[in-house]
Amino acid sequence: MNAPTTSSRGRQHDVPVVELRNVEKEFETTRSVLDRLLDDPKPAKAVCGVSLSVLRGETVGIVGESGCGKSTLAKLVTGQLTPNRGTVLLDGDPVGGYTTRTDGQLRRVGVVFQNVRKSFDSRWSIQRSLAESFGHEQHSDATVDHVEDLLAQVRLDPQVGERYPSELSGGQLQRIGIARALAHDPDLVVLDEPVSGLDVATQAAILDLLADLQRRHEVGYLFISHDLDVVRYLADRLAVMYAGELVERGPALAVFDRPSHPYTEALLRAIPSDDPADPPPEPLLGSPPVPSNRPTGCPLHPRCSYADEQCERHHPGFERVRDVRSRCHYAGEISDGSRANDRRRGGER
Ligand code: SF4
Repeated sequence: MNAPTTSSRGRQHDVPVVELRNVEKEFETTRSVLDRLLDDPKPAKAVCGVSLSVLRGETVGIVGESGCGKSTLAKLVTGQLTPNRGTVLLDGDPVGGYTTRTDGQLRRVGVVFQNVRKSFDSRWSIQRSLAESFGHEQHSDATVDHVEDLLAQVRLDPQVGERYPSELSGGQLQRIGIARALAHDPDLVVLDEPVSGLDVATQAAILDLLADLQRRHEVGYLFISHDLDVVRYLADRLAVMYAGELVERGPALAVFDRPSHPYTEALLRAIPSDDPADPPPEPLLGSPPVPSNRPTGCPLHPRCSYADEQCERHHPGFERVRDVRSRCHYAGEISDGSRANDRRRGGER
């Protein structure tokens, strides 16, 4: 057996910085009178049996529409929520929610929030916000040095520390949000829609910064986004989420190159192309199911153009197609295009 590989900072490379094993999260829903009489709790299943891991220095992208469970998954990793079933492990140790994690475990995970402006106290200078995040006295020399170092790492002038959130652009504030996430030198940063709402040039600059910081800090990223085009830039591996489940996962290039799940295909078709000669994007039709009222069989079947009777009756397990795992009865035929060809021929008859 090979000895575990260890980084220059004494951290093991072959133990995932975070691992989720069969994690499930349900929420209570408002019950109708009939549900109460029948004692039918109808929980909303936000995350259903998700297993995934992130290694040091790699980026795992989680993509899907709003309401697919991505943000709930992020909160399970950061400890804002605890699973109903399954286990979350940090560096190999099972952990519970935020209040039960040790200081060391809390420091292992940084977070970059989607709505960064709301995540800062508008009455505090950036210097004070960053000092608070690592719990040091605001004006000590060590704190001032640490804040300056963090600002330099995210390519901001030290003078920015004296300013207030209202004086900064969305891009500058997101850089400071990234600095705050790195304050404790974490093993993992959860990036929850980190560039949504920013213009394209600022998005590109932030993604470039994230890639550079990852190289320097060997940090793992769990990158959550509804936008595949953004995730494409950073992700080493990709997990596509629908109705609380992972439906396709594998190396990002393989998934982008030849998707083997109709939902991934549809997300890719919805991306606008830069080339005016390309066909226009096709928005996804229909809506995801309500978490408390999931359809029988494959949860995508009411929206899937390939669906048949088997899809309506049987919930698919994961199929392996090349390096990718896909939760579709026809994963192989979706990947090689034969199911699309059959459908076209069927339409022509
Ligand atoms: S199992 Fe059927 S409904 Fe589900 S994604 Fe595959 S083809 Fe579509």
